[in-house]
Amino acid sequence: MNPLTSQSNLGAIDAAHHLHPFSDMKQLNEKGTRIIARGEGVYIFDAQGRRYLDGFAGLWCVNIGYGRKEIAEAVQRQMNELPYYNTFFGTTTPPTTLLAQKITAHTGGRLNHAFFTNSGSEATDTWFRMARVYWKALGHPTKTHVIARRNGYHGSTVAGASLGGMKHMHEQGNLPIEGISHIGQPYWYAEGGDLTPDAFGRKMARELEAKIDELGEENVAAFVAEPIQGAGGVIVPPATYWPEIARICKARNILLVADEVICGFGRLGTWFGHQHFGFEPDLAPVAKGLSSGYLPIGAVLVSDRVAKVMIEEAGDFNHGYTYSGHPVCAAAALENLRIIEEEGLVDRVRTDIGPYFAAALKSLEDHPVVGQVDTVGLIAGVQLAADKGTRRRFAKPDDAGMNVRNHCLENGLVMRATGDRMLASPALIISRSEVDQMVETLRKGLDHLRDTMTE
Ligand code: PMP
Repeated sequence: MNPLTSQSNLGAIDAAHHLHPFSDMKQLNEKGTRIIARGEGVYIFDAQGRRYLDGFAGLWCVNIGYGRKEIAEAVQRQMNELPYYNTFFGTTTPPTTLLAQKITAHTGGRLNHAFFTNSGSEATDTWFRMARVYWKALGHPTKTHVIARRNGYHGSTVAGASLGGMKHMHEQGNLPIEGISHIGQPYWYAEGGDLTPDAFGRKMARELEAKIDELGEENVAAFVAEPIQGAGGVIVPPATYWPEIARICKARNILLVADEVICGFGRLGTWFGHQHFGFEPDLAPVAKGLSSGYLPIGAVLVSDRVAKVMIEEAGDFNHGYTYSGHPVCAAAALENLRIIEEEGLVDRVRTDIGPYFAAALKSLEDHPVVGQVDTVGLIAGVQLAADKGTRRRFAKPDDAGMNVRNHCLENGLVMRATGDRMLASPALIISRSEVDQMVETLRKGLDHLRDTMTE
């Protein structure tokens, strides 16, 4: 028995000493935290030994599932050999360099360079600075403004939270910082009105063009968006959206940044989300699935277009982290990518389990409180509705989501609710019967909402 896990008073210690992210600590301490002690495959186990199907892969990250000994062994080997060295003063370590080669290979040569970070938030701060350095080096020092989207999520650092379009985050700490604007999101169900999804997709993409006109093309460095908004509610854009965005970025000469922190590493049935949608970003922050969350590591993937200027024109890039390219984290990531490759998990998502997951979840569209189900690969957003005919939503959307989420949790399924959307993002190794179990439990949660909340 792990001596850390067997400690009996963890709950009390946690309440006394641990401040949790994105939490109302007063409420949490009253309720008590759930202590997760172990994981195996798609399941997690709490300290009492209760098993949950993790429909969310931790925080959209445990792509290869829990308990893979190969990663533990790769980490141990690297720990014994070289637990740490930096990549600052003309040095690197073998796993760091090999990881840069391996990740970039999966972009089909498009994003051929990697700058390492410890997290998605740090990757956001990194490309944000890099984009400005790029334009300055090219002789366009006024091109500094970055356009992002309402209800996007790009991390919790000052730049990350500013670029994100979450009002509740901006309200804390006087955000956004200067030089950032937000346009609308392609969330047809809630905001599409009478337009068809395709017409709405084009309309929302053209908000980018209007914003560039307003700011002046000579002042805009980049546009950033998640291929599919994750934390915002798994908002899958209409098919017309990305081609139009890509056209505008090209025509107006601004960098296109695809935030691949969730969509990367197989989640959509392609190595990266932009490959699913068929557009070509100039920069792409990644994290999460890069190591399947086994150790913290992220990166910014950089196209030849940007790298050429950074290498040949920009001189020193005065940016980096003590743990940029940490050898143990890189060894974990390398082993994780080897597993994804050798087990064919990306193809499995695209051709096998993804379509099965889609069909199983779509079957919920017959449920009276379900307005629409969106899935791509192994990510899903289930839109709750008070009246599906008119797309009318529950008066208290957060309560509706929590109603279903809590019922699922009580019945052994971890789902996330964002407002009135139920989100799923299971490990890429989930089996068909585990998908069935997930959808069955979710259906019971939806029944519970139908029976307990009418408006
Ligand atoms: N970008 C996106 C799209 C994310 O979903 C997240 C995290 N959920 C981040 C950035 C930030 O990553 P991290 O939490 O590792 O800093």
